[in-house]
Amino acid sequence: MKDTDEIIDIRSLVDESFRDHLSTVTKDGKRNWIFPVKPKGKWFRYRAAVAIFFYAIFFITPFIKVHGRPLLLFNFPEGKFILFGFVFWPQDFFIFGLIMLAAIVFIALFTNAFGRLFCGWVCPQTIFMEMLFRRVDYIVLGSAKEQRLLARAEWSAKKAWKYTLRYGIYFILSFIIANTFLSYIIGVDELWKIVTEPISMHVGGFAAILIFTLVFFGVYAYVREQVCTNICPYGRLQSVLLDKNSVVVAYDYKRGEPRTKYKKVQAEGTGDCIDCYACVNVCPTGIDIRNGTQLECVNCTACIDACNFIMEKTGRPQGLIRYDSENNIAEGKKFKFTGKLKGYTAILAVLIIAIVALLITRENVDGTLMRTSGMLYQERGTDSISNLYNLKLINKSIKAFNLEIRPENFNGRIELVGNPNVRIEPEKQASATFFIIKPSKEITERKQKVKIGIYENGKLINTLSSTFMGPVNRGDDDE
Ligand code: SF4
Ligand code: SF4
Repeated sequence: MKDTDEIIDIRSLVDESFRDHLSTVTKDGKRNWIFPVKPKGKWFRYRAAVAIFFYAIFFITPFIKVHGRPLLLFNFPEGKFILFGFVFWPQDFFIFGLIMLAAIVFIALFTNAFGRLFCGWVCPQTIFMEMLFRRVDYIVLGSAKEQRLLARAEWSAKKAWKYTLRYGIYFILSFIIANTFLSYIIGVDELWKIVTEPISMHVGGFAAILIFTLVFFGVYAYVREQVCTNICPYGRLQSVLLDKNSVVVAYDYKRGEPRTKYKKVQAEGTGDCIDCYACVNVCPTGIDIRNGTQLECVNCTACIDACNFIMEKTGRPQGLIRYDSENNIAEGKKFKFTGKLKGYTAILAVLIIAIVALLITRENVDGTLMRTSGMLYQERGTDSISNLYNLKLINKSIKAFNLEIRPENFNGRIELVGNPNVRIEPEKQASATFFIIKPSKEITERKQKVKIGIYENGKLINTLSSTFMGPVNRGDDDE
């Protein structure tokens, strides 16, 4: 019974009721709109500077070109991706996949060390929501209190005008973001054509701009913080990525508790928290950081600024809420490079080495060679056999190639069908059809491996393989 008594005792000391409800849902299950107090302070100024830097990068990058191609392009419809000037085609997808994998491992490593720093400082959702759309609210609708009162007020001309203005600005901003976003997919040149040429010529493009605009509008006008708290998979992964060593926005409960209302002379045995709720009122996800690390916290630092302001006003040291780890707060243990971090670092290093090696050894001209389907072989006179092939080539470079195809591992010749020149323009695809003709006496098996070389100015730039079908060993299976 002693153990049970202890459990009951501990439970009565810790108020866990915050776990029973979402801060963004009312008791009767409706959306509880958050009207956070406008943040101000040192950390907010740093974040504003980072946001301006991010906006510059986001809006300028589509216009930056390297050797005439965009710095970044994610052309999903055509399966073409450009990362920092490197073009990735479907054939390179394993490199692209490895880069994505490395990015995920990096995020896991970074999150394990520094928590949700990414969300608060560089995630486009937070940056646009908190540093742009939320600013519109403060300018058009007023302070957090005024916003709340307006939301609850009966409809009037003033309310209609303010909301129309607010959503009008939201729509324009969403339209600009949607166009920029689309330029990362199709490139600025294509986007410019969609914008300047008649709609009838770009119905799909206009539809895409409209859909993206409506999606961004919906996200920033209605979904808002729900993206971070309930939708974003990265946010949901925090519970497995974080541990007690992770540096997060944290409340120093050792110093802050027991919290008591402010008195000029601080009573003996009381903590530094004066239970003023400034940290809660400023939180864009509506949580109380004093309850400990929570999934909803996007590490936006607004509560740090708010609490620092209160600490300054009450003559107490700043940093009651700060970037820190649970271990440091509880036991004074400083940041440690744990086994988990070492593991992530090792995996990341291997991935980066693999990516660099693959990029260095990547062929400029790649392709696939396939025997024409539905055809076996042709007899050429009395002493030769031919097979017909289809060659598809892709030029990943910014230079045109005049190519020559030569036999590599067999005696015989290659006879191109139609145009004898294989020319491939920069970043384009080309195809060729040709016969491989081999002397009958060299055909010892029904199915043989043949290798062709792709040459440019007499220099081998790639080799491709396929099978050659012959008339012997007829009992074998066909391909
Ligand atoms: S708890 Fe603090 S850091 Fe976390 S989301 Fe709220 S205000 Fe931002
Ligand atoms: S702002 Fe600081 S003092 Fe005020 S309730 Fe939050 S932690 Fe306590």
